[in-house]
Amino acid sequence: MLGLMQEHPLLVSSILRHAARHHRGAKIVSADAEGVVSRSTWPDVEQGAAKLAQALIRRGVKPGERIATLGWNSREHLELYYAVSGMGAVLHTVNPRLFPDQIVHILEDAGDTHLFVDPAVLPALMAVAGRLPKSLRAVVLMRPAPLPDLPVEVLEQGALCAAESGDYGWPELDERSASSLCYTSGTTGMPKGVLYSHRSTVLHAMASIQPDVFALSALDVAMPVVPMFHVNAWGIPYAAPMAGASLVLPGPKLDPASLFRLFEEEGVTFSAGVPTIWTLLLQWLGADPSRKFAKPPRLVVGGTALPVSVTGGFLGEYGVNILHAWGMTEISPLGSVNSRKAENADWDAARFLDYSRKQGRPQFGVDFRVLDGSGKPIAQDEVAFGELEVRGHWVAAGYFNHESDPAVTEDGWFRTGDVVTLDALGEIEIVDRAKDVIKSGGEWISSITLENLAMGHPDVALAAAIPVHHPKWDERPLLLVVRRDGTDPTPESILAVLEGKVAKWWMPDRVEFVETLPLTATGKLWKAELKRQWKDFSLPG
Ligand code: AMP
Repeated sequence: MLGLMQEHPLLVSSILRHAARHHRGAKIVSADAEGVVSRSTWPDVEQGAAKLAQALIRRGVKPGERIATLGWNSREHLELYYAVSGMGAVLHTVNPRLFPDQIVHILEDAGDTHLFVDPAVLPALMAVAGRLPKSLRAVVLMRPAPLPDLPVEVLEQGALCAAESGDYGWPELDERSASSLCYTSGTTGMPKGVLYSHRSTVLHAMASIQPDVFALSALDVAMPVVPMFHVNAWGIPYAAPMAGASLVLPGPKLDPASLFRLFEEEGVTFSAGVPTIWTLLLQWLGADPSRKFAKPPRLVVGGTALPVSVTGGFLGEYGVNILHAWGMTEISPLGSVNSRKAENADWDAARFLDYSRKQGRPQFGVDFRVLDGSGKPIAQDEVAFGELEVRGHWVAAGYFNHESDPAVTEDGWFRTGDVVTLDALGEIEIVDRAKDVIKSGGEWISSITLENLAMGHPDVALAAAIPVHHPKWDERPLLLVVRRDGTDPTPESILAVLEGKVAKWWMPDRVEFVETLPLTATGKLWKAELKRQWKDFSLPG
Protein backbone atom coordinates (compact mmCIF):
# COMPACT_ATOMS: atom_id res chain seq x y z
CA MET A 1 0.00 0.00 0.00
CA LEU A 2 1.31 3.46 -0.86
CA GLY A 3 1.31 6.34 1.58
CA LEU A 4 -1.18 9.12 1.13
CA MET A 5 1.04 12.15 1.27
CA GLN A 6 1.62 15.01 -1.14
CA GLU A 7 4.66 14.95 -3.37
CA HIS A 8 6.37 18.08 -4.60
CA PRO A 9 9.61 18.21 -6.53
CA LEU A 10 12.61 19.28 -4.45
CA LEU A 11 13.69 22.40 -6.33
CA VAL A 12 16.46 24.93 -5.76
CA SER A 13 13.99 27.77 -6.47
CA SER A 14 11.82 26.66 -3.55
CA ILE A 15 14.68 27.46 -1.14
CA LEU A 16 14.92 31.08 -2.27
CA ARG A 17 11.14 31.47 -2.38
CA HIS A 18 10.94 30.26 1.24
CA ALA A 19 13.58 32.74 2.44
CA ALA A 20 12.06 35.63 0.47
CA ARG A 21 8.62 35.00 2.00
CA HIS A 22 9.45 34.08 5.56
CA HIS A 23 12.83 35.68 6.30
CA ARG A 24 12.48 39.16 4.88
CA GLY A 25 14.49 40.67 7.73
CA ALA A 26 17.66 38.62 7.19
CA LYS A 27 20.44 40.58 5.49
CA ILE A 28 22.63 39.81 2.50
CA VAL A 29 25.96 41.63 2.67
CA SER A 30 28.24 41.61 -0.34
CA ALA A 31 31.78 43.02 -0.29
CA ASP A 32 33.49 44.14 -3.50
CA ALA A 33 37.16 44.10 -4.52
CA GLU A 34 37.79 47.28 -2.49
CA GLY A 35 36.02 45.87 0.56
CA VAL A 36 33.02 48.21 0.12
CA VAL A 37 29.83 46.43 1.19
CA SER A 38 26.35 46.60 -0.32
CA ARG A 39 23.26 45.39 1.52
CA SER A 40 20.12 43.63 0.40
CA THR A 41 17.56 41.06 1.55
CA TRP A 42 16.25 37.66 0.44
CA PRO A 43 13.27 39.32 -1.36
CA ASP A 44 15.80 41.54 -3.21
CA VAL A 45 17.80 38.48 -4.23
CA GLU A 46 14.67 36.70 -5.45
CA GLN A 47 13.68 39.77 -7.45
CA GLY A 48 17.19 40.04 -8.99
CA ALA A 49 17.23 36.30 -9.79
CA ALA A 50 13.78 36.50 -11.39
CA LYS A 51 14.87 39.39 -13.64
CA LEU A 52 18.01 37.52 -14.60
CA ALA A 53 15.99 34.38 -15.42
CA GLN A 54 13.69 36.49 -17.62
CA ALA A 55 16.71 38.02 -19.37
CA LEU A 56 18.25 34.59 -20.03
CA ILE A 57 14.97 33.29 -21.45
CA ARG A 58 14.74 36.40 -23.64
CA ARG A 59 18.21 35.54 -24.95
CA GLY A 60 16.93 32.10 -25.90
CA VAL A 61 18.56 30.08 -23.09
CA LYS A 62 16.83 26.70 -22.87
CA PRO A 63 16.43 24.24 -19.97
CA GLY A 64 19.57 22.13 -19.57
CA GLU A 65 21.82 24.74 -21.22
CA ARG A 66 25.07 25.37 -19.35
CA ILE A 67 25.75 28.89 -18.09
CA ALA A 68 29.23 29.41 -16.66
CA THR A 69 30.45 31.78 -13.96
CA LEU A 70 33.96 32.93 -13.08
CA GLY A 71 33.64 34.88 -9.90
CA TRP A 72 34.09 35.42 -6.18
CA ASN A 73 31.39 35.31 -3.52
CA SER A 74 29.04 38.19 -4.29
CA ARG A 75 25.36 39.08 -4.51
CA GLU A 76 25.54 39.00 -8.33
CA HIS A 77 26.92 35.46 -8.18
CA LEU A 78 24.20 34.48 -5.69
CA GLU A 79 21.50 35.77 -8.05
CA LEU A 80 23.06 33.71 -10.84
CA TYR A 81 22.93 30.60 -8.65
CA TYR A 82 19.17 30.92 -8.33
CA ALA A 83 18.32 32.43 -11.74
CA VAL A 84 20.14 29.80 -13.78
CA SER A 85 19.09 26.69 -11.81
CA GLY A 86 15.65 28.11 -11.06
CA MET A 87 14.74 28.54 -14.73
CA GLY A 88 15.96 25.01 -15.52
CA ALA A 89 19.40 25.76 -16.97
CA VAL A 90 22.64 24.47 -15.41
CA LEU A 91 24.95 26.73 -13.40
CA HIS A 92 28.58 25.88 -14.13
CA THR A 93 30.94 27.52 -11.63
CA VAL A 94 34.51 27.77 -12.94
CA ASN A 95 37.51 28.10 -10.63
CA PRO A 96 39.55 31.11 -11.87
CA ARG A 97 42.68 29.70 -10.21
CA LEU A 98 42.80 26.75 -12.59
CA PHE A 99 45.47 26.81 -15.28
CA PRO A 100 44.40 28.38 -18.60
CA ASP A 101 44.54 24.95 -20.30
CA GLN A 102 42.18 23.53 -17.67
CA ILE A 103 39.77 26.48 -18.01
CA VAL A 104 39.72 26.02 -21.79
CA HIS A 105 39.10 22.29 -21.31
CA ILE A 106 36.20 22.64 -18.89
CA LEU A 107 34.42 25.42 -20.85
CA GLU A 108 34.72 23.17 -23.89
CA ASP A 109 33.65 20.01 -22.03
CA ALA A 110 30.63 21.77 -20.46
CA GLY A 111 29.60 23.42 -23.75
CA ASP A 112 28.73 26.67 -21.96
CA THR A 113 26.74 29.23 -23.96
CA HIS A 114 27.16 32.22 -21.62
CA LEU A 115 29.99 33.09 -19.27
CA PHE A 116 29.39 35.55 -16.41
CA VAL A 117 32.64 37.10 -15.15
CA ASP A 118 33.47 39.05 -12.04
CA PRO A 119 35.63 42.02 -13.21
CA ALA A 120 38.07 41.05 -10.41
CA VAL A 121 38.95 37.85 -12.30
CA LEU A 122 39.01 39.24 -15.82
CA PRO A 123 42.73 38.35 -16.19
CA ALA A 124 41.78 34.65 -15.86
CA LEU A 125 39.40 35.10 -18.80
CA MET A 126 41.76 37.21 -20.89
CA ALA A 127 44.39 34.45 -20.55
CA VAL A 128 42.10 32.19 -22.58
CA ALA A 129 40.44 34.89 -24.75
CA GLY A 130 41.74 33.41 -28.00
CA ARG A 131 40.63 29.89 -27.09
CA LEU A 132 36.98 30.34 -26.06
CA PRO A 133 34.75 27.39 -27.03
CA LYS A 134 32.56 27.57 -30.14
CA SER A 135 29.45 27.06 -28.00
CA LEU A 136 30.00 30.40 -26.20
CA ARG A 137 27.61 33.13 -27.36
CA ALA A 138 28.31 35.90 -24.84
CA VAL A 139 30.45 37.04 -21.93
CA VAL A 140 28.58 39.01 -19.27
CA LEU A 141 30.38 41.15 -16.68
CA MET A 142 28.84 40.68 -13.25
CA ARG A 143 29.48 44.34 -12.34
CA PRO A 144 30.04 47.53 -14.34
CA ALA A 145 33.61 47.74 -15.70
CA PRO A 146 35.21 48.66 -19.03
CA LEU A 147 34.06 46.01 -21.52
CA PRO A 148 36.99 43.82 -22.62
CA ASP A 149 37.77 43.14 -26.27
CA LEU A 150 36.66 39.55 -26.93
CA PRO A 151 35.67 37.55 -30.01
CA VAL A 152 32.10 37.11 -28.63
CA GLU A 153 29.35 39.54 -27.59
CA VAL A 154 30.17 41.29 -24.30
CA LEU A 155 27.41 42.54 -21.97
CA GLU A 156 26.93 43.73 -18.41
CA GLN A 157 24.68 41.91 -15.92
CA GLY A 158 22.81 45.01 -14.70
CA ALA A 159 22.13 46.22 -18.22
CA LEU A 160 21.07 42.72 -19.29
CA CYS A 161 18.26 42.73 -16.72
CA ALA A 162 17.34 46.43 -16.83
CA ALA A 163 14.23 45.98 -18.96
CA GLU A 164 12.87 42.95 -17.05
CA SER A 165 9.89 43.18 -14.67
CA GLY A 166 10.88 40.48 -12.17
CA ASP A 167 7.33 39.18 -12.44
CA TYR A 168 8.29 35.57 -13.04
CA GLY A 169 6.96 32.26 -11.73
CA TRP A 170 9.65 29.65 -11.09
CA PRO A 171 8.84 26.61 -13.25
CA GLU A 172 7.94 23.24 -11.75
CA LEU A 173 10.87 21.14 -12.98
CA ASP A 174 11.61 17.45 -12.57
CA GLU A 175 13.57 17.32 -9.31
CA ARG A 176 16.08 14.98 -10.95
CA SER A 177 17.02 17.55 -13.57
CA ALA A 178 20.51 19.01 -13.44
CA SER A 179 20.90 22.22 -11.42
CA SER A 180 24.65 22.86 -11.36
CA LEU A 181 27.96 21.56 -12.64
CA CYS A 182 31.27 21.73 -10.84
CA TYR A 183 34.61 20.30 -11.95
CA THR A 184 37.03 18.46 -9.69
CA SER A 185 40.33 20.25 -9.14
CA GLY A 186 42.13 17.81 -11.45
CA THR A 187 45.35 17.38 -9.50
CA THR A 188 46.26 14.31 -11.50
CA GLY A 189 44.53 14.60 -14.86
CA MET A 190 42.09 17.00 -16.49
CA PRO A 191 39.21 18.09 -14.21
CA LYS A 192 36.00 16.05 -14.47
CA GLY A 193 32.48 17.47 -14.20
CA VAL A 194 30.11 16.56 -11.38
CA LEU A 195 26.50 17.29 -12.34
CA TYR A 196 24.30 18.00 -9.31
CA SER A 197 20.50 17.72 -9.47
CA HIS A 198 17.85 19.87 -7.82
CA ARG A 199 16.98 16.93 -5.59
CA SER A 200 20.56 16.25 -4.49
CA THR A 201 21.14 19.96 -3.83
CA VAL A 202 18.03 20.38 -1.68
CA LEU A 203 18.64 17.18 0.31
CA HIS A 204 22.29 18.18 0.85
CA ALA A 205 21.20 21.59 2.16
CA MET A 206 18.66 19.99 4.52
CA ALA A 207 21.32 17.67 5.89
CA SER A 208 23.90 20.43 6.25
CA ILE A 209 21.82 22.73 8.45
CA GLN A 210 21.31 20.06 11.13
CA PRO A 211 22.64 20.65 14.67
CA ASP A 212 25.57 18.22 14.38
CA VAL A 213 26.60 19.64 11.01
CA PHE A 214 26.47 23.42 10.35
CA ALA A 215 23.76 23.99 13.00
CA LEU A 216 22.32 26.89 11.00
CA SER A 217 19.31 28.77 12.32
CA ALA A 218 17.37 31.86 11.33
CA LEU A 219 19.44 33.80 13.88
CA ASP A 220 22.76 32.99 12.22
CA VAL A 221 24.88 35.27 10.07
CA ALA A 222 26.74 32.88 7.77
CA MET A 223 29.87 33.85 5.86
CA PRO A 224 31.16 31.30 3.34
CA VAL A 225 34.85 32.11 2.87
CA VAL A 226 35.11 28.99 0.75
CA PRO A 227 34.53 30.31 -2.77
CA MET A 228 31.29 29.86 -4.68
CA PHE A 229 33.40 28.12 -7.36
CA HIS A 230 34.60 25.45 -4.90
CA VAL A 231 31.77 22.89 -4.67
CA ASN A 232 29.09 25.61 -4.47
CA ALA A 233 30.76 27.17 -1.41
CA TRP A 234 30.03 23.85 0.32
CA GLY A 235 26.32 24.43 -0.27
CA ILE A 236 26.07 27.43 2.08
CA PRO A 237 24.30 29.61 -0.56
CA TYR A 238 21.49 27.01 -0.35
CA ALA A 239 21.74 26.14 3.36
CA ALA A 240 21.58 29.76 4.62
CA PRO A 241 18.27 30.71 2.92
CA MET A 242 16.80 27.32 3.80
CA ALA A 243 17.49 28.12 7.47
CA GLY A 244 16.45 31.75 7.01
CA ALA A 245 19.92 32.94 8.02
CA SER A 246 21.69 36.10 6.90
CA LEU A 247 24.54 35.73 4.42
CA VAL A 248 27.81 37.65 4.19
CA LEU A 249 29.64 37.30 0.86
CA PRO A 250 33.24 38.45 1.34
CA GLY A 251 34.22 39.08 -2.31
CA PRO A 252 37.82 38.73 -3.45
CA LYS A 253 39.52 40.15 -0.31
CA LEU A 254 40.17 37.11 1.86
CA ASP A 255 43.16 38.36 3.86
CA PRO A 256 42.81 37.99 7.67
CA ALA A 257 42.27 41.71 8.33
CA SER A 258 39.45 42.01 5.79
CA LEU A 259 37.78 38.84 7.04
CA PHE A 260 38.09 39.87 10.69
CA ARG A 261 36.48 43.23 9.87
CA LEU A 262 33.48 41.43 8.33
CA PHE A 263 33.26 39.03 11.29
CA GLU A 264 33.05 41.96 13.70
CA GLU A 265 31.11 44.57 11.72
CA GLU A 266 28.49 42.15 10.40
CA GLY A 267 28.24 39.97 13.51
CA VAL A 268 29.17 36.79 11.65
CA THR A 269 28.23 33.75 13.78
CA PHE A 270 29.23 30.98 11.36
CA SER A 271 31.90 30.65 8.70
CA ALA A 272 33.52 27.95 6.59
CA GLY A 273 36.86 27.72 4.82
CA VAL A 274 39.93 25.64 4.05
CA PRO A 275 42.73 25.25 6.64
CA THR A 276 44.98 27.90 5.05
CA ILE A 277 42.35 30.60 5.68
CA TRP A 278 42.00 29.75 9.38
CA THR A 279 45.73 29.20 9.88
CA LEU A 280 46.49 32.68 8.50
CA LEU A 281 43.68 34.25 10.55
CA LEU A 282 45.02 32.64 13.73
CA GLN A 283 48.54 33.94 13.04
CA TRP A 284 47.19 37.43 12.34
CA LEU A 285 45.07 37.48 15.50
CA GLY A 286 48.06 36.35 17.55
CA ALA A 287 50.19 39.28 16.33
CA ASP A 288 48.19 41.82 18.36
CA PRO A 289 46.61 41.00 21.75
CA SER A 290 43.79 43.52 21.14
CA ARG A 291 42.45 41.39 18.26
CA LYS A 292 39.62 39.44 19.92
CA PHE A 293 36.17 38.44 18.65
CA ALA A 294 33.35 40.32 20.39
CA LYS A 295 31.38 37.06 20.14
CA PRO A 296 33.27 33.92 19.05
CA PRO A 297 31.88 32.54 15.77
CA ARG A 298 31.61 28.83 14.91
CA LEU A 299 33.97 27.74 12.16
CA VAL A 300 33.90 24.77 9.80
CA VAL A 301 37.02 23.51 8.12
CA GLY A 302 37.53 20.94 5.40
CA GLY A 303 39.29 20.38 2.11
CA THR A 304 42.50 19.14 3.71
CA ALA A 305 43.23 18.02 7.25
CA LEU A 306 43.51 20.83 9.79
CA PRO A 307 46.43 20.55 12.22
CA VAL A 308 45.19 20.15 15.80
CA SER A 309 47.49 23.05 16.76
CA VAL A 310 45.22 25.43 14.83
CA THR A 311 42.00 24.01 16.33
CA GLY A 312 43.61 24.28 19.78
CA GLY A 313 44.81 27.85 19.17
CA PHE A 314 41.34 29.06 18.22
CA LEU A 315 39.66 27.27 21.11
CA GLY A 316 42.23 28.11 23.78
CA GLU A 317 42.87 31.76 22.91
CA TYR A 318 39.58 32.86 21.38
CA GLY A 319 36.90 30.40 22.51
CA VAL A 320 36.22 29.60 18.85
CA ASN A 321 35.01 26.06 18.08
CA ILE A 322 36.12 24.54 14.80
CA LEU A 323 34.13 21.69 13.32
CA HIS A 324 36.25 19.35 11.21
CA ALA A 325 34.38 18.14 8.12
CA TRP A 326 35.37 15.98 5.17
CA GLY A 327 33.99 16.07 1.70
CA MET A 328 34.59 16.05 -2.03
CA THR A 329 33.29 17.72 -5.17
CA GLU A 330 31.70 14.35 -5.98
CA ILE A 331 29.78 14.41 -2.65
CA SER A 332 28.30 17.93 -2.99
CA PRO A 333 30.62 18.12 -0.79
CA LEU A 334 29.53 17.00 2.68
CA GLY A 335 30.60 13.46 3.60
CA SER A 336 31.41 13.47 7.30
CA VAL A 337 31.71 15.65 10.39
CA ASN A 338 33.48 15.22 13.68
CA SER A 339 31.04 16.55 16.24
CA ARG A 340 30.48 15.01 19.66
CA LYS A 341 28.08 12.12 20.20
CA ALA A 342 26.93 10.01 23.14
CA GLU A 343 30.16 8.02 23.33
CA ASN A 344 32.44 11.05 23.70
CA ALA A 345 30.04 13.64 25.14
CA ASP A 346 31.87 13.75 28.47
CA TRP A 347 35.45 13.84 27.22
CA ASP A 348 37.33 16.86 28.51
CA ALA A 349 38.41 19.60 26.08
CA ALA A 350 42.00 18.33 25.74
CA ARG A 351 40.91 14.79 24.89
CA PHE A 352 38.34 15.93 22.34
CA LEU A 353 40.83 18.39 20.86
CA ASP A 354 43.20 15.54 20.07
CA TYR A 355 40.26 13.59 18.63
CA SER A 356 39.26 16.53 16.40
CA ARG A 357 42.06 15.58 13.98
CA LYS A 358 39.67 12.88 12.73
CA GLN A 359 37.16 13.54 9.97
CA GLY A 360 34.32 11.86 11.88
CA ARG A 361 31.23 10.04 10.71
CA PRO A 362 28.69 10.46 7.93
CA GLN A 363 25.55 12.46 8.55
CA PHE A 364 22.24 10.80 7.62
CA GLY A 365 21.97 10.54 3.86
CA VAL A 366 25.50 9.27 3.21
CA ASP A 367 26.67 5.72 3.80
CA PHE A 368 30.33 4.61 4.22
CA ARG A 369 32.18 1.35 3.70
CA VAL A 370 35.89 0.62 4.05
CA LEU A 371 37.14 -2.64 2.59
CA ASP A 372 40.55 -4.26 2.69
CA GLY A 373 42.33 -5.70 -0.35
CA SER A 374 40.25 -8.89 -0.19
CA GLY A 375 36.93 -7.05 -0.06
CA LYS A 376 36.31 -7.59 3.69
CA PRO A 377 35.43 -4.66 6.03
CA ILE A 378 38.55 -3.42 7.83
CA ALA A 379 38.91 -3.76 11.60
CA GLN A 380 37.79 -0.73 13.67
CA ASP A 381 41.15 -0.57 15.42
CA GLU A 382 42.69 2.72 14.16
CA VAL A 383 45.49 0.66 12.58
CA ALA A 384 44.08 -1.21 9.59
CA PHE A 385 43.41 1.00 6.62
CA GLY A 386 41.55 0.82 3.36
CA GLU A 387 39.92 2.98 0.72
CA LEU A 388 36.76 4.80 1.75
CA GLU A 389 33.74 4.18 -0.47
CA VAL A 390 30.53 6.19 -0.17
CA ARG A 391 27.00 6.20 -1.50
CA GLY A 392 24.04 8.44 -0.79
CA HIS A 393 21.53 11.02 -1.96
CA TRP A 394 24.15 13.61 -2.95
CA VAL A 395 26.95 11.35 -4.18
CA ALA A 396 27.90 11.37 -7.90
CA ALA A 397 26.70 8.40 -9.96
CA GLY A 398 29.18 9.23 -12.75
CA TYR A 399 30.86 12.23 -14.38
CA PHE A 400 29.54 14.68 -16.97
CA ASN A 401 30.37 13.24 -20.40
CA HIS A 402 31.81 10.11 -18.67
CA GLU A 403 28.74 8.48 -17.23
CA SER A 404 30.44 5.22 -16.46
CA ASP A 405 33.69 5.74 -14.64
CA PRO A 406 35.86 3.30 -12.72
CA ALA A 407 35.39 5.52 -9.65
CA VAL A 408 31.92 4.01 -9.27
CA THR A 409 31.89 0.30 -8.39
CA GLU A 410 29.56 -2.20 -10.03
CA ASP A 411 27.40 -2.29 -6.92
CA GLY A 412 27.03 1.50 -6.93
CA TRP A 413 29.60 2.81 -4.44
CA PHE A 414 31.79 5.82 -5.21
CA ARG A 415 35.48 5.15 -4.61
CA THR A 416 36.87 8.26 -2.94
CA GLY A 417 40.58 7.57 -3.36
CA ASP A 418 40.98 8.48 0.33
CA VAL A 419 42.68 5.95 2.57
CA VAL A 420 41.20 5.86 6.08
CA THR A 421 41.30 4.07 9.42
CA LEU A 422 38.23 3.43 11.57
CA ASP A 423 38.10 3.57 15.35
CA ALA A 424 35.86 1.81 17.85
CA LEU A 425 33.29 4.64 17.53
CA GLY A 426 33.18 4.11 13.76
CA GLU A 427 34.82 7.49 13.02
CA ILE A 428 37.18 7.84 10.08
CA GLU A 429 40.62 9.36 10.02
CA ILE A 430 42.05 10.13 6.60
CA VAL A 431 45.50 8.66 6.40
CA ASP A 432 46.23 9.86 2.88
CA ARG A 433 45.12 10.07 -0.70
CA ALA A 434 45.71 6.57 -2.11
CA LYS A 435 48.20 8.05 -4.57
CA ASP A 436 50.13 10.04 -1.93
CA VAL A 437 50.94 7.38 0.67
CA ILE A 438 54.66 6.74 1.06
CA LYS A 439 55.43 3.07 0.43
CA SER A 440 58.52 2.16 2.41
CA GLY A 441 59.55 -1.46 1.80
CA GLY A 442 55.92 -2.23 0.86
CA GLU A 443 54.54 -0.79 4.13
CA TRP A 444 52.50 2.41 4.08
CA ILE A 445 53.40 5.68 5.78
CA SER A 446 50.78 8.44 6.08
CA SER A 447 52.11 11.68 4.63
CA ILE A 448 49.27 13.63 6.27
CA THR A 449 50.24 12.46 9.77
CA LEU A 450 53.84 13.55 9.28
CA GLU A 451 52.77 16.94 7.91
CA ASN A 452 50.29 17.66 10.68
CA LEU A 453 52.74 16.78 13.43
CA ALA A 454 55.45 18.94 11.83
CA MET A 455 52.97 21.84 11.64
CA GLY A 456 52.74 21.63 15.44
CA HIS A 457 56.32 23.06 15.62
CA PRO A 458 56.01 26.79 16.39
CA ASP A 459 58.44 27.80 13.62
CA VAL A 460 56.82 25.75 10.84
CA ALA A 461 54.46 27.66 8.53
CA LEU A 462 53.76 24.79 6.12
CA ALA A 463 55.03 21.22 5.72
CA ALA A 464 54.73 18.52 3.06
CA ALA A 465 55.86 14.90 3.25
CA ILE A 466 56.59 13.21 -0.06
CA PRO A 467 58.21 9.93 -1.08
CA VAL A 468 61.74 10.04 -2.51
CA HIS A 469 63.72 7.19 -3.96
CA HIS A 470 65.68 4.98 -1.59
CA PRO A 471 67.91 2.14 -2.85
CA LYS A 472 66.83 -0.32 -0.16
CA TRP A 473 63.29 0.68 0.86
CA ASP A 474 62.17 1.94 -2.55
CA GLU A 475 60.48 5.01 -1.03
CA ARG A 476 61.27 6.96 2.12
CA PRO A 477 59.68 10.16 3.46
CA LEU A 478 61.24 13.55 2.77
CA LEU A 479 59.79 16.41 4.82
CA LEU A 480 59.71 19.79 3.09
CA VAL A 481 59.27 22.74 5.43
CA VAL A 482 58.46 26.42 4.93
CA ARG A 483 59.75 28.35 7.96
CA ARG A 484 57.68 31.02 9.67
CA ASP A 485 58.98 34.51 8.90
CA GLY A 486 61.90 35.49 11.11
CA THR A 487 62.55 31.98 12.49
CA ASP A 488 65.36 29.52 11.89
CA PRO A 489 64.45 26.05 13.22
CA THR A 490 66.86 23.12 12.89
CA PRO A 491 65.88 19.84 11.21
CA GLU A 492 66.51 18.08 14.54
CA SER A 493 64.04 20.29 16.42
CA ILE A 494 61.35 19.53 13.82
CA LEU A 495 61.97 15.79 13.95
CA ALA A 496 61.82 15.98 17.76
CA VAL A 497 58.14 17.02 17.48
CA LEU A 498 57.39 13.78 15.63
CA GLU A 499 59.40 11.48 17.88
CA GLY A 500 57.31 9.12 19.98
CA LYS A 501 54.16 10.10 18.08
CA VAL A 502 54.82 7.89 15.05
CA ALA A 503 56.54 4.54 14.56
CA LYS A 504 60.33 4.87 14.25
CA TRP A 505 60.28 3.69 10.63
CA TRP A 506 57.81 6.48 9.77
CA MET A 507 60.35 9.19 10.73
CA PRO A 508 61.37 11.29 7.69
CA ASP A 509 64.88 10.50 6.47
CA ARG A 510 65.53 14.14 5.68
CA VAL A 511 64.14 17.60 6.38
CA GLU A 512 64.67 20.21 3.65
CA PHE A 513 63.75 23.89 3.98
CA VAL A 514 61.99 25.54 1.02
CA GLU A 515 60.69 29.06 0.39
CA THR A 516 57.20 28.00 -0.75
CA LEU A 517 55.18 24.89 -1.50
CA PRO A 518 53.02 24.63 -4.64
CA LEU A 519 49.26 24.67 -4.03
CA THR A 520 46.42 23.49 -6.25
CA ALA A 521 43.59 25.72 -7.48
CA THR A 522 41.62 24.80 -4.37
CA GLY A 523 44.47 25.63 -2.00
CA LYS A 524 45.73 22.12 -1.27
CA LEU A 525 49.32 20.96 -1.28
CA TRP A 526 50.04 20.00 -4.86
CA LYS A 527 51.76 16.68 -4.25
CA ALA A 528 52.01 15.67 -7.90
CA GLU A 529 54.05 18.81 -8.67
CA LEU A 530 56.24 18.36 -5.58
CA LYS A 531 56.98 14.76 -6.53
CA ARG A 532 57.92 15.97 -9.99
CA GLN A 533 60.24 18.64 -8.56
CA TRP A 534 62.01 16.16 -6.25
CA LYS A 535 61.98 13.10 -8.51
CA ASP A 536 65.76 13.08 -8.99
CA PHE A 537 66.48 13.41 -5.29
CA SER A 538 67.84 10.14 -3.97
CA LEU A 539 68.73 9.20 -0.42
CA PRO A 540 71.95 7.33 0.34
CA GLY A 541 71.48 3.58 0.94
P1 AMP B 1 37.77 18.45 -3.57
O1 AMP B 1 36.93 17.65 -4.48
O2 AMP B 1 38.64 19.43 -4.28
O3 AMP B 1 36.95 19.10 -2.51
O4 AMP B 1 38.77 17.45 -2.87
C1 AMP B 1 38.33 16.34 -2.13
C2 AMP B 1 39.48 15.72 -1.38
O5 AMP B 1 39.97 16.63 -0.40
C3 AMP B 1 39.10 14.51 -0.57
O6 AMP B 1 39.06 13.35 -1.37
C4 AMP B 1 40.20 14.47 0.47
O7 AMP B 1 41.38 13.85 -0.05
C5 AMP B 1 40.48 15.91 0.72
N1 AMP B 1 39.81 16.36 1.94
C6 AMP B 1 38.64 17.00 2.05
N2 AMP B 1 38.35 17.27 3.33
C7 AMP B 1 39.37 16.78 4.06
C8 AMP B 1 39.66 16.71 5.46
N3 AMP B 1 38.86 17.25 6.36
N4 AMP B 1 40.79 16.10 5.84
C9 AMP B 1 41.64 15.56 4.94
N5 AMP B 1 41.43 15.59 3.62
C10 AMP B 1 40.30 16.18 3.18
